[in-house]
Amino acid sequence: MAKRKKKFYITTPIYYVNDRPHVGHSYTTLAADVLARYHRLKEEKVFFLTGTDEHGFKVAQAAAAAKKPTQEFVDEKAAFFKESWSKLNINYDNFLRTTNPAHISAVTTATKHLYEKNFIYKDKYEGLYCQNCEQYKTLDDLIEGKCPEHQIEPQLIREESYFFRLSKFEKILREKIEIGELKIEPPEKKNEILAFFKKGLKDISISRANVAWGIPLPFDKRYSLYVWIDAFLNYLTGLGWNGEFGKAPNFFPPDVQLMSKDILRVHVTIWPALLLALELSLPKKIFVHGYFTVNGQKMSKSLGNVIWPEELIQKFGVDGARYLLISSLSYGQDGDVSWERLIAKYNADLANNLGNLVNRVLKLSEGIKVKIGKGKPRIKNLEKLFNELKFKEILDAIWQKISWANKHIEDKKLWDLVKTNPNEGKKVLSELLSLISEIAEKIAPFMPETSEKILNQLKTGKGEILFPRLR
Ligand SMILES: [Zn+2]
Repeated sequence: MAKRKKKFYITTPIYYVNDRPHVGHSYTTLAADVLARYHRLKEEKVFFLTGTDEHGFKVAQAAAAAKKPTQEFVDEKAAFFKESWSKLNINYDNFLRTTNPAHISAVTTATKHLYEKNFIYKDKYEGLYCQNCEQYKTLDDLIEGKCPEHQIEPQLIREESYFFRLSKFEKILREKIEIGELKIEPPEKKNEILAFFKKGLKDISISRANVAWGIPLPFDKRYSLYVWIDAFLNYLTGLGWNGEFGKAPNFFPPDVQLMSKDILRVHVTIWPALLLALELSLPKKIFVHGYFTVNGQKMSKSLGNVIWPEELIQKFGVDGARYLLISSLSYGQDGDVSWERLIAKYNADLANNLGNLVNRVLKLSEGIKVKIGKGKPRIKNLEKLFNELKFKEILDAIWQKISWANKHIEDKKLWDLVKTNPNEGKKVLSELLSLISEIAEKIAPFMPETSEKILNQLKTGKGEILFPRLR
């Protein structure tokens, strides 16, 4: 019997369409792409979902400010994201937009059932609401009375509201997080979340009055559904789920869900609680990556220091941009970038190290018959690092071998050796060609085009410049 292929389902958050994608969005999506490519190369059945979050007050407001019909506005913004992902050579399986009619219909069905099964009830609500987070805040969440993410004072909102019984799931969720059935990585984030659970989970308001740009509550059309509920269900509707309880779509649950730290809390409370209510299984792993700072400062439009993926691609090429983005953040840590350091890293790692190695070895092999050696793999233990999402460490391991190979050429004075001792020279070249072929395979998830180019050059024996030096 043929072995059943392992499945791998990976998601990014769906991005809010009030902006173009910057390096933060790009990092999340690229990391998902790298993992998806890695698992596809292992011949697993992979589904990679991304998309855009298009409902809510802020979107309607931004569309009004741009003097555009809201649907036209979100169409335009979603297209920006698709275009950026295409430029970055991101190979997703579905791009889910929350204004998609099938998504809206499934969310409506699910919401109706949640109400019928008494997971949703009506009550009065008063609370502090950050319009930019689209989240209610407790006094504990605020720093000097302001939302720490947005530096704005939340509004006091009093309304009749529908609530989701989040509190009902507090105990079971805490247990599942504690025992690692729902993994939160890196570990310090798990501890942070468990500390947050100690304060207790309260039921949350899931209805908004006077927000026309949203999905109407099927049992009370005066209200629209809280955007986060609408957004979370994308991880199901993106696989074709139609809103039925207990009926998991193919590929569900997610094996890894990637996100930045600002949206972790909702992803380990509201999202898994919804899944339990819907009688579906929980994601296996939630991974939180850090933020990019630029020269030590938070990236912001007002500081004018935002780095756009298009600028990176223009300067470094697609694979150069992919390499620099993914190697800028360590496992779960923040990372600081500057144009000077990006250029220096590009020159050091790509032009002088990898590019130079391939070029030199192919030049030296020209005109002599050298077979590519078939040695054992030299770069080991990447599987464990991939499972732990330690991308930078994987690249470090590969680049160590590249550095070693360049040094080996120097130590052996290979350009002389091929003349003075052709047999020995051929042997060293053969080993190096084998290593280069292994490197090409191992960088494929990160730099698919470069991988292909190198493998092609190995076939034709003609070396061409992979990464021109930048000044
Ligand atoms: Zn906020």
